[in-house]
Formats: sequence, structure tokens, C-alpha cells
Amino acid sequence: MDFDLSEEQRLLQDSARKLVSRHIRPQLDSHDRERPLPKEVVLGILQLFAREGLTAPRVPIEAGGSGMQMVDYGVVFEQLPPVIAHALIAHEVTITRIHAESEEEKWRRHLPDLIAGRKICCTATTEPDTGSDPRGVKTRAREEGDELVIDGRKMWITNASISDVVVVTCSAGNAADGRALRRILVDRAVSPYETREIDRLGSRQGHVGEILFENCRVPRENALGRSDDAPRVLTTTWNGSRPLLGLMAVHMAQRAFDAALAYAGIRRQFGRLIGSTQLVQENLVDMATAIETSRLLCYKALAEIDAGRRANALAAMSKRYATTACLEAVSLAMSVHGAMGFSAELGLEELYRDARMLLVPDGTHEIQTLIVGRELTGIAAFRA
Ligand SMILES: Cc1cc2nc3c(=O)[nH]c(=O)nc-3n(C[C@H](O)[C@H](O)[C@H](O)COP(=O)(O)OP(=O)(O)OC[C@H]3O[C@@H](n4cnc5c(N)ncnc54)[C@H](O)[C@@H]3O)c2cc1C
Repeated sequence: MDFDLSEEQRLLQDSARKLVSRHIRPQLDSHDRERPLPKEVVLGILQLFAREGLTAPRVPIEAGGSGMQMVDYGVVFEQLPPVIAHALIAHEVTITRIHAESEEEKWRRHLPDLIAGRKICCTATTEPDTGSDPRGVKTRAREEGDELVIDGRKMWITNASISDVVVVTCSAGNAADGRALRRILVDRAVSPYETREIDRLGSRQGHVGEILFENCRVPRENALGRSDDAPRVLTTTWNGSRPLLGLMAVHMAQRAFDAALAYAGIRRQFGRLIGSTQLVQENLVDMATAIETSRLLCYKALAEIDAGRRANALAAMSKRYATTACLEAVSLAMSVHGAMGFSAELGLEELYRDARMLLVPDGTHEIQTLIVGRELTGIAAFRA
């Protein structure tokens, strides 16, 4: 067992930190923190990532990706500001799915612009009536000659309003039971769709929105995979993404901890530094322990995936633990700051809002609990 980063991982971590401080943080700071970033800013940042091989780490080199180890990707991902990490993971996992679900001719056509960051993509599964159980999707794709015609509405889709390509999970309208899932690549320039940003609690510089497909005509060859393998592809890619979302939580908790530690070292009450009181120290210890535990779980899950194991339980456990621990850590950092913890100037309130939202995407806290429960007992408790 080796808990140290390798020399190469240290370099990766260092160059990710520099990329953030020199190129990403200034962009975020120069735009309104309450409004979605302009699309060209997100494209510019994706292009920076593309140069470092970070837009397609799970795609092999022969297909234009960088074929990175997930642990190495995690080392980079942990350094990213949450709003950018959200946009990147939605883009990256969609690229991974397009590659996993299409034959060479298709990915050669669609992937280069996405991997280079010239276009932005997203995955649309969630709908107004369908969230945790994707098998209930109502968006329909019916076959008409050489085309698939999509009708339906998707909600809470990261990158929706700035997307050029969306991979949409549909119910195959011609399936006997009407429930077989099918995933279809929709190129907005060829098959236009409408989008609308959702006003929300956190991630306010990001893009999370609705997509409306009305008689959206897509070339038939844009169907991905087989109509029965969508759940498998969704599950294997979720397993890789969950520890990455956990590392987003680690990033936020670490920032909150760093602020609290610094404040505890300068703020005086009752004639002493608050950091010299046992209760403030306890808050700091609880935060540090939660961060360390979350980090270990997330990297262990990623290492399992690198070792070729399914890591279903560990991936769910890491996201479940790290996101909840992060929310608690940010809350404790607020406590250490007293009233200052709530000021917009300090930024902890923004972290708190962002952290709360992390509990939901890629499976809610409760769904992660049920996944781990199923892996431990062999009994699925999702359905009655
Ligand atoms: C920031 C953000 C980004 C997102 N990005 C995307 C995206 O890019 N693409 C996409 O398709 N979706 C995306 N989503 C949507 C997300 O995947 C869904 O919101 C999530 O799967 C939950 O679905 P729901 O909101 O419909 O809640 P529901 O499934 O309706 O659940 C409501 C509540 O019931 C609980 N619950 C449900 N079933 C059970 C059960 N069997 N046992 C116990 N409790 C249960 C849930 O945990 C939750 O507390 C995003 C969401 C957010 C917040």
C-alpha cells in the first residue's frame, strides 16, 4: 500500500493548480458570480483542458483520447473549481459514452470536435417525471424512414443551454413493452432543440437546464449502442464519475477548511485566539478528518476502476460519504467564522450552496445508499 503521489502525479497536480490559478480562476472572477458564464468562456477553458488531454481521459489514445488512469485524472480533477469541474465531467462522460456506444465510423465523425473543445456536449436522461429510476423515461424516439423522431422534455441537464451535441436517453417507441431505453446522439446544428436555463440554488456560474425536443428529426445512424445496453453503459460510466464528484466535494471541503484554519489563527475573543479553544479545534479536527477520509475513499474507488474492477459499492460509497462530509465541513467552517461565515464576500455561502447541490447528480444520497446496501446484502431495495 502506497499513499504517496508518484513524481508524475505531483507534476500533474502542480500543473493543474497552475492552470487554475493562471487561466481559470481569473475568468471566473471577472464574470458575475450569479450568472452563467458565456459559452465562449467555457469553450476556451475546455480547449485548455483539451491541450492537456483532460477532455477524454477514459477514451483510448487510438481513438483520440488520452487513456489516462482514473487515479491520475482524479488528482487533476480535485484541483478544479466546482463550476468548471461540473461542466468538464458532463462533457467528458458524454464523450466516453459516445465512444463506448458507437462503431469507429461514428466516433471518428463526432469525437474530434468534442475532444478538442470546439463543441460542448452533455447527457440528458432526467425528465420532469423521471429521475432516480431512468427506466421510466417518457421521451420517445419513433422511427420514420431514415430518421428517428424525438419528442420529450429533459430537465436538470448540465451544459444543456450551451450544448452543441446531446446524447439523449429515450424510450424506443417501437419496443414491445415501450420501455426499452435507447440513446441517441443529437447534433444541434442538424437537429435543433430548445433549451432553457433553470434558476437554482448553487452552481450559478454553470449551466443546468431543460431541453425540449419537439418533432426533433435525427438521422437514424445517430442511434448509439443497442437498444438494451443503455443501462449498462450508464452504470459503468457512473461508477467512474461518482468518485470524481466525491473529489469535487473534497476540493470544496478543503477550501472551507483552509479558510477556517486561517481565521482561527487570527480571530481573537475573550482575550485569546479562537483557535486556542478546544471547541474550535474540535471543529477543525472534524473537518480535517472528513476531508482525509473522503479523499482516501475516492482515490481507492478510482484505483479499483483502474485495476479493472467494477467498484460499484466503493464508487457509490465515495460519492455518498464525500458529498455529505463536504456539506458538514462547509457548515463547520461557517461556524468557525461566526457571522462572517454567511457573508457573500467570504464565499463560504457560495460553497455551501454548491455543496448542497452535489448530493443529487449521478444518483442522490439515498440512491447511493441503496446501491451500497444492494452490494453488501445482495438484495436490491429500490422497488417494492
Ligand atoms: C447539479 C445537477 C446536475 C445534474 N446534471 C444532470 C445531467 O447532466 N444529466 C441528467 O440526466 N441529469 C442530471 N441531473 C439530474 C439528477 O441526475 C437527478 O436529479 C437525480 O437522478 C434525482 O432525480 P430527481 O431529481 O427526479 O429525484 P427523484 O428521483 O424524484 O427523487 C426524489 C427523492 O426521493 C428519493 N428516492 C427516490 N427513489 C427512492 C427509493 N427507491 N428509495 C429511497 N429514496 C428514494 C430520492 O433520493 C430523492 O430524495 C442533475 C441534477 C443536479 C442537481
